[in-house]
Amino acid sequence: MQRYSVFAIAREAFRHHLGWERAWAAPEPKPSYDAIIVGAGGHGLATAYYLGKNHGITNVAILEKGWLGGGNTGRNTTIIRSNYLQDPSAAIYEKSRSLYETLSQDLNYNVMFSPRGVMMLAQTHHEVRGYLRTQHANALQGVATEFISPQRVKELCPILNIDGPRYPVLGALWQARGGTGRHDAVAWGYARACSAMGMHIIQNCEVTGVRSENGQVTGVDTTKGFIGTRKLGMVVAGHSGQLAEMAGFRLPIEAVALQALVSEPIKPCMDVVVMANTVHGYMSQSDKGEMVIGGGTDGFNNYTQRGSFHHIEETLRALVETFPMISRLKMLRQWGGIVDMTGDRSPLISKTPLGNCFINCGWGTGGFKAIPGSGWAMAELMAKGEPGPLAEAFNMWRFKEGRFIDESVAAGVAH
Ligand SMILES: Cc1cc2nc3c(=O)[nH]c(=O)nc-3n(C[C@H](O)[C@H](O)[C@H](O)COP(=O)(O)OP(=O)(O)OC[C@H]3O[C@@H](n4cnc5c(N)ncnc54)[C@H](O)[C@@H]3O)c2cc1C
Repeated sequence: MQRYSVFAIAREAFRHHLGWERAWAAPEPKPSYDAIIVGAGGHGLATAYYLGKNHGITNVAILEKGWLGGGNTGRNTTIIRSNYLQDPSAAIYEKSRSLYETLSQDLNYNVMFSPRGVMMLAQTHHEVRGYLRTQHANALQGVATEFISPQRVKELCPILNIDGPRYPVLGALWQARGGTGRHDAVAWGYARACSAMGMHIIQNCEVTGVRSENGQVTGVDTTKGFIGTRKLGMVVAGHSGQLAEMAGFRLPIEAVALQALVSEPIKPCMDVVVMANTVHGYMSQSDKGEMVIGGGTDGFNNYTQRGSFHHIEETLRALVETFPMISRLKMLRQWGGIVDMTGDRSPLISKTPLGNCFINCGWGTGGFKAIPGSGWAMAELMAKGEPGPLAEAFNMWRFKEGRFIDESVAAGVAH
């Protein structure tokens, strides 16, 4: 793999940039692989990467029905944090956040991780109590968060109106090493590293069926023909229910559209991420200057990548109340992604009723931040056939057994 560096840029500047290699190859599928991952989003690509890097399994294909990173990975608002309440969640999200710290160096690809700080506003007394509880839990889990005063909120984000008409700001849960990253770059960086290890990323290749013999997976039918495998990882976010049906089991998952929008670019005015969960809106500023704004999920199941108009209205109403200066901003684009929601708002990284078939899904509205940690845990599960400590609580049977990992406060509406 060609190394990206300041010297490489200088060298290419002298030869009209004609020497850059393609970032990843576009091979035709082989008849079979040791492992197949369905879905070339961040989680699928990270799973493949850590299968190779941590477990030496490189005869791997990643099958993608569209283009890599074109699902939720390329549609999200890129908030990275690990201030979750329950121990298994804090462990995997903090693992992920810490992998983000060095991901650019690890992949030799600038993923633009920006630990600018994330604050979750407390605008009711109930939220104050909830965030204090999370802060205490985080202290025990080794996750650095603090509960800050309204004055400190104002210092960190001067454009915020802390005396809002309906819900004044009573404080905030602040994670200084949370932040944002560049979503496409995360997918592209992992893809390039997987390709360099000899893995096959096959785009425009939809999985249409799962074949098995004696309760063990044997391969998948695709729009490019049958491909055999001894291990199958399903990592398709909002389409997980459909893949599971092909493999003959059902999942406790619902698919809904979640949407976001960006404004025209403006001068730097905000260098933290702010989430206002009571009024429900959140905002950060991209490196280009656009205000990146997240909305809510549709109230009904669907597979659209648009999102409904009433949500834009509600989100902007919430944000104008929180940041009055945005009322005159023009919005540039709006889009949606199909997110996969579980009942306890925690993911599944799990074996399935089909032998050697594994599932990673249910990240819902907040899985971008989890990509490195989830890939790490899923790769371990696929390589060893059993979950490691990061994944074991997230098995799909917890819903049957009543062992929920309830993150509905941290992840039900927030990101
Ligand atoms: C608007 C929005 C805002 C968000 N904001 C945040 C945020 O701020 N922070 C955060 O942490 N998370 C956020 N998220 C959630 C985050 O984007 C997702 O949890 C995460 O990207 C899921 O990644 P993935 O790799 O599992 O799925 P995806 O990126 O969706 O990848 C799944 C892939 O599987 C492919 N696929 C599906 N079916 C098949 C098939 N049959 N055959 C082959 N391929 C198939 C799809 O084409 C897709 O590319 C947001 C999501 C949205 C939509």
